[in-house]
Amino acid sequence: MRIVTAIEDSIQEAASILKEGGLVAFPTETVYGLGANALDGKAVARIFEAKGRPQFNPLIAHVSDADQAAALVVFNEWAEIAAHHFWPGPLTLILPRKSDCAVNELVSAGLETIAVRVPSHPVALKLLQAAGVPVAAPSANVSGTLSPTTPQHVAEGLGDKVDMILAAGACDVGLESTVLDLSGDVPVVLRPGAVTAEDLSRVLECDVVVEDGDTDKPKSPGMMLKHYAPSIPVRMNAIDLEPGEALLAFGSDQFMGVNGGGAAKDLPETQRRNLSEDGDLNEAAANLFAMLRALDRPEHKAIAVMAVPDQGLGVAINDRLKRAVS
Ligand code: AMP
Ligand code: MG
Repeated sequence: MRIVTAIEDSIQEAASILKEGGLVAFPTETVYGLGANALDGKAVARIFEAKGRPQFNPLIAHVSDADQAAALVVFNEWAEIAAHHFWPGPLTLILPRKSDCAVNELVSAGLETIAVRVPSHPVALKLLQAAGVPVAAPSANVSGTLSPTTPQHVAEGLGDKVDMILAAGACDVGLESTVLDLSGDVPVVLRPGAVTAEDLSRVLECDVVVEDGDTDKPKSPGMMLKHYAPSIPVRMNAIDLEPGEALLAFGSDQFMGVNGGGAAKDLPETQRRNLSEDGDLNEAAANLFAMLRALDRPEHKAIAVMAVPDQGLGVAINDRLKRAVS
């Protein structure tokens, strides 16, 4: 593992590592982030692998300016004002994904919205400018441990799982970024942070709702943290197919049969996807949400998913499939 002082050359090198699918820990004004190219699903899957996260929760896509954000998500008037007023800075905006948005669906955990932010730390900004791609980045720590505010914290927690640590001393240990959902009828603060609801209300000139943080407790519709779930049933650990079911394979589906006659491998393309023909969990994680979505069609009776090993990234994949089942 390499801890490198953030200077012009090392920032350029870090940007190259990101573009090539690697992981770079970098300072932001809140904590050190664990960054990957948000357009590259396999790179994003490595974030979850490195953090040992048992769940795929949506990540923030960090960008270098509002124009780059506007290429990914649909801005409304509130978003224009908030971005103009608070970026670069600790405010994350949740906005609808553009139809041609190239951010991998693992970043947004399959949701129709994406969280975007322009951080103000000069090293983060330089890195994002040099990389020229949106960078997905949660805190650079092992899941369940304290967020890192120094490069040493990152090294102790993640060690060789990260390709490079860009070091620029201790973070300001400010609060986390405020997460503001602007995709609905009213602005909603999903996570309080350095930018307060009062600040937002004054600048947006309207009422701002503050979530109470208990995301599992149903409140008014649309106010829970939504999880993507297909609209048709999902069946796990499938070893054969029922007629009318779509197949989400993992590994070879060569010898999989359809009850009543036929072979899975002869199904039309619209009815069959493979998370990873080689049985690679990283590739499977990168494909999961896009493939579920592709098979989620009313003409299919259900999505039958072949068993995915319950280890490494497979734990998070199975967690998401189980939620889709229930
Ligand atoms: P972190 O990566 O630790 O800064 O956390 C990111 C925060 O943004 C979490 O609270 C996520 O639940 C939230 N988040 C990211 N994307 C979305 C989204 N599309 N909709 C709602 N919340 C999101
Ligand atoms: Mg965290």
